[in-house]
Amino acid sequence: LHIEASVAGGERENEAFAVLVFHDITELRRLEKIRKDFVANVSHELRTPLTSIKGYVEALLDGAKDDPEALNKFLDIILKQSDRLNLILEDLLELSKIESGRVSFKQDPLDIRSVVERTLSMIKPIADKKGHRLVTELDDRLPPIAGDEDRLVQVLTNLLDNAVKYTPERGMITVAARLVPEPARALPEHRALELSVSDTGIGIPEQDRPRVFERFYRVDKARSRELGGTGLGLAIVKHIVEGHGGQVWVEGRQPQGSRFVVRLPLRHPSRLAAQLTETNT
Ligand code: ADP
Repeated sequence: LHIEASVAGGERENEAFAVLVFHDITELRRLEKIRKDFVANVSHELRTPLTSIKGYVEALLDGAKDDPEALNKFLDIILKQSDRLNLILEDLLELSKIESGRVSFKQDPLDIRSVVERTLSMIKPIADKKGHRLVTELDDRLPPIAGDEDRLVQVLTNLLDNAVKYTPERGMITVAARLVPEPARALPEHRALELSVSDTGIGIPEQDRPRVFERFYRVDKARSRELGGTGLGLAIVKHIVEGHGGQVWVEGRQPQGSRFVVRLPLRHPSRLAAQLTETNT
């Protein structure tokens, strides 16, 4: 607990008084720490590829450029590291746009199936490359949801991209969507759509599960970097899902793997119906 105190005094009805005010600044301190950690993390993340680029350029200038094999190899590394810098910057910009509230999420009536289909067509080539099996399990009668299709495609892309990355060759990746069973007396607007991505991959230790949505948090830094990750994918996912009024979390699977669940609220059916009519006219 962090406390800040201030004293004020005066006189009232000929009696002197003093007031001691305590402010609980625990939350302020926490936010300040998050900000400092973030700046330190960004600097570190950017410095790693830069150091590598600088090292290889120096080696080339020192004479490695005269060896055609080394020349090719080093240039290739320099290119890869520059691409990586670019990717980190793009993700950072995206995240800062969302966090500053400069991105407003559309509330279009949309069919979750089209979100799944659009994403799968992009992911299939990289899943095929690793020999993964991609399976979809979509409930037959899924109601339309109100959301931003491009952003939701981004959510699913990030989750599937991770499932492909963190699952050894010839794994199985399942995308499922279902209506969460309505509790007996719940209001219609309390119903939700649950979208999940399950894999048979390396899994996430229980203590790391809540933290993987933090910016730059990784279970295994070296491995994640090697696989080309920026450490920002799940932070972006969380922001978009919460921007839709939803929640996201990860569960472990038996005997192995992870299951990421995105729960999106369903708007009141009549409101959505009205919106559908509006869009159609
Ligand atoms: P990265 O770019 O490192 O993949 P993310 O924000 O997408 O960053 O994910 C954060 C961390 O969560 C990853 O570094 C990895 O340790 C873990 N992770 C994410 N998805 C999975 C998954 N499907 N299986 C195992 N670990 C995962």
